[in-house]
Amino acid sequence: MWWARLVEPARLLLDALAPRQCAGCRVASPDVLCEPCLELALALPLPPAERWRWGQTWSAFPFQTPIRGLVHAAKYQGRRPAARVLAALTAERLVTQGLPPPAAVVPVALARRRRRARGYNQVEPGARALAALAAAPLLDGLRRVRETAPQVGRSLPDRRRNVAGAFAWSGPPLTGTVWLVDDVVTTGATLEAAATVLQRAGAGRIDAVATARAWRGRG
Ligand SMILES: [Zn+2]
Repeated sequence: MWWARLVEPARLLLDALAPRQCAGCRVASPDVLCEPCLELALALPLPPAERWRWGQTWSAFPFQTPIRGLVHAAKYQGRRPAARVLAALTAERLVTQGLPPPAAVVPVALARRRRRARGYNQVEPGARALAALAAAPLLDGLRRVRETAPQVGRSLPDRRRNVAGAFAWSGPPLTGTVWLVDDVVTTGATLEAAATVLQRAGAGRIDAVATARAWRGRG
């Protein structure tokens, strides 16, 4: 639509007019993350790799300050610079962890309504950065085939029910190892639903790669 071309300049303008503050601690800052918060982020412990029924999950950070603030800025305030900083931090941290090299990198898809509201998929910059570092193609073929209610505040069985059958694969046939990229892993229910679809499309091994690991009932 004609007005779509105006959305990005308008967003940049709003970004320029908005008071600049650090997404981690809210102090006035020209950067999306101030220097102390960046140091704090880099000092956070690396969560251990986890084995799930369908594959392995690698998370770059625990979901806590200042990463939590950055994720919220990327997700709920539509701040693309926040998503880009997260992408760079995630890729840098994980590529040194000995993940098996991927044949393809696939971002988790957002529900269409949420993507429209947000203006972009906040997972994509991270997926793109990882694909570039791994020299693998970025395949944007995962689709939400039905709208799902937000997962926040649900139990694991409830989350599983909520996302079962929510995804479909519309990309080329997959082979070998696929990196499935998401922003925050909590129970893994969304990743499981997406991984099942990727396996059916031919993926031999799924490594889920996430920016942050959250544990329910904790920070
Ligand atoms: Zn800060």
